[in-house]
Amino acid sequence: MIDEHVALRLLRSPASGVPHDVAAALAVVAQHVGGLRQAIARERLALAADDRDAVFAFAKKLDAYEHDPSVFPDAAPLPPASTPVDAPIELAVSVDREPGAPLRARQPHFSASALNAYADCARKWYYRYTCNAVEDRGSSASFYGTAFHTALEDFHETFVHPEPAHEATMRDRIRSDVARAFAGHRDDFETAVEYELQVRRAQRTAQRYVTWLVAKAKRAPFTIVGRELHAAKKVVGYDFIGFIDRLDRDDATGNVAIVDYKTGAIAESAAEYREKVRTFHDFQLPFYYWAREAEGDRVATLSLIPLKDASSDVRPIELEVVPVAREESRRSGAPTGTIGVADLERARVKMGELCRILSDGSLTAFPATADPGACTYCAYKLACNDRPATPEEKFAR
Ligand code: SF4
Repeated sequence: MIDEHVALRLLRSPASGVPHDVAAALAVVAQHVGGLRQAIARERLALAADDRDAVFAFAKKLDAYEHDPSVFPDAAPLPPASTPVDAPIELAVSVDREPGAPLRARQPHFSASALNAYADCARKWYYRYTCNAVEDRGSSASFYGTAFHTALEDFHETFVHPEPAHEATMRDRIRSDVARAFAGHRDDFETAVEYELQVRRAQRTAQRYVTWLVAKAKRAPFTIVGRELHAAKKVVGYDFIGFIDRLDRDDATGNVAIVDYKTGAIAESAAEYREKVRTFHDFQLPFYYWAREAEGDRVATLSLIPLKDASSDVRPIELEVVPVAREESRRSGAPTGTIGVADLERARVKMGELCRILSDGSLTAFPATADPGACTYCAYKLACNDRPATPEEKFAR
């Protein structure tokens, strides 16, 4: 029987094929259940399907290893039999730290979401846009968002001019569009139960979306003139690209509304969203505004449609674009408000400034955010030693 220390060492080596966080957790469990084989056999860890397969594949190789060490071809050689495994570790001489070098953005185009990432956390931007160090495999929330966007894009291919008289047809159609869009992502969700829960959530939310759409069409008829509309524009000398979820044209005035679907958390009031634009934490709608104005549209409204919560009515956050914004209080909680053209202009200038900083090669440090909220869904959490502690973690120390 292979020695427990050797088995653990193989488990923690890259040759095991087991993700390092899973291997570390298994090693801890092994101490409590009488060894690694027991820990694997008893399935004491609740693992995602991929991780579980990797652990079982490792166990199989471990069985074969005694007779055939080539099953772990990349493993470091084991110590000779005479060497006690618990012998004191000889520390290697540490190498000098490599001198730091400035980094710059490598992509030929910028996007509002890249600038949003930088505004959220410079370290996140560094991980995602310069070193590509950690693969973002997506999450249930991100697959929900992608599938919902696809469903709405398909739905509005048919319903370009939402008519209250077609409400029943719209309800049937969106049901089948959601089902089809989510079926295309079935394998992305970790379990069948998770998939089913997300489909049900989307179906309930989609029905609420139709309720809102019908009410909006009754108030002021409109035509959808763009879905996933490509937006490309130079902003202060830098190329930007993006995709506008939906572009509506008011039938009476000809003005357009830029619509962005949001399947994650968003500002809870128009004043709160405007504040995010003013403090340079959100560049998405400002960029779309300038991109469409450059195309000759008169953009009258910027709108975020919340599609996260199946238990609440769809209540968009809408900002009317005006020469000078009325200063609604953030505490009013009103979903509608105004934003000044000067606010959007300041955002445009700031976009240029950030592009210059990110591309001129002067950046040598990418500090982690001080806001633990920004880390909640960050794909780089495991790799990020400097992330701020959550209030719960602080309390536990
Ligand atoms: S975990 Fe937090 S601090 Fe680290 S990169 Fe992500 S957002 Fe930034």
